[in-house]
Amino acid sequence: MHLTDEQRNEIDAARERSAPTRRATVPALEALLYQPIAVLDHGFIRVIDYMGDDAAVVQAARVSYGNGTRRVSEDAALIRYLMRHRHTTPFEMCEIKYHVKLPIFVARQWIRHRTANVNEYSARYSILDREFYLPAPGNLAAQSPSNRQGRGAVLEAAEAAAVLDLLRADAVRCHEHYVAMLNEGPDGAPLEPGRQGLARELARMNLTLNTYTQWYWKIDLHNLLHFLSLRADAHAQYEIRVYAEAMLQTVQAWVPMTFEAFRDYRLGAVTFSAPMLAVLQRLLAGEAVVQPGSGLSRREWAEMMVALGRDPRSE
Ligand SMILES: Cc1cc2nc3c(=O)[nH]c(=O)nc-3n(C[C@H](O)[C@H](O)[C@H](O)COP(=O)(O)OP(=O)(O)OC[C@H]3O[C@@H](n4cnc5c(N)ncnc54)[C@H](O)[C@@H]3O)c2cc1C
Repeated sequence: MHLTDEQRNEIDAARERSAPTRRATVPALEALLYQPIAVLDHGFIRVIDYMGDDAAVVQAARVSYGNGTRRVSEDAALIRYLMRHRHTTPFEMCEIKYHVKLPIFVARQWIRHRTANVNEYSARYSILDREFYLPAPGNLAAQSPSNRQGRGAVLEAAEAAAVLDLLRADAVRCHEHYVAMLNEGPDGAPLEPGRQGLARELARMNLTLNTYTQWYWKIDLHNLLHFLSLRADAHAQYEIRVYAEAMLQTVQAWVPMTFEAFRDYRLGAVTFSAPMLAVLQRLLAGEAVVQPGSGLSRREWAEMMVALGRDPRSE
């Protein structure tokens, strides 16, 4: 993660400012506020602002006049009850705002989450930095033979090196052509006097998808947890999952009771369909159930066996 001296100074200045408030604040999240948490090679997430805490969830659920006088254990139990029974609106009372720096191809997945407010760095207005995501060799894998949406074995060293060379060379070349088309140097002066230079909104079409972009992303806690349940999941692509995992750290600092309930009832939980439940009941009754005739497809059967910690090929 590269930050300029100017950006570091701005972050330091923001972290030095404080103002008295009657609003709820969370010391553990205050400690993280504005600080970038590095993700991938040049990316980061940082919390810019937030509203509410665990008590705000409880307060909304009880529609109370203050923080209330209940014990912490009662608040935690209520939050766990809300999470378990998908009583979601109390979680919408809390909001958080992130600044995220991410490769464009990750942003394309991320933007599918429609319930956030987003403002992206404008490549119509500004020139995108020469920063590209180049995976670590351990993350360069072959196409998965079993999952068309996933990756399989890590590439052999020689092939990984060749892939990295191509990725780097193509990204650099496209960025060089982008700058040439803009005809604009770092100081804003024309590279070749006498040439008009192409508009930024057009020149950007030449950039590779691993170029980094940035946005401010604001969302309520309920929808954030929905995002995290999909993107911190093992099925999510590694490059977005690492962002979700960094955000989980901030959620844990911000709303620890909600985080624990989310971890237990969403992240670490599995859902069984009605036919799966019927299979489970038969297994618990000691019956030797096999996939054929179980009412489950081979894929569902394998998924269920994995969830139960059994050999997915067992039939
Ligand atoms: C592992 C994985 C693989 C994926 N593969 C593909 C793929 O191959 N192709 C592809 O196109 N996408 C793919 N996606 C994206 C996926 O289909 C969703 O678009 C994305 O996860 C956003 O989910 P969401 O709509 O629930 O979230 P959000 O947009 O954040 O919405 C949250 C919830 O709000 C409600 N909501 C929001 N907007 C509406 C609306 N207009 N109408 C009704 N309800 C609404 C829904 O209940 C929704 O669940 C994939 C996602 C994952 C996690």
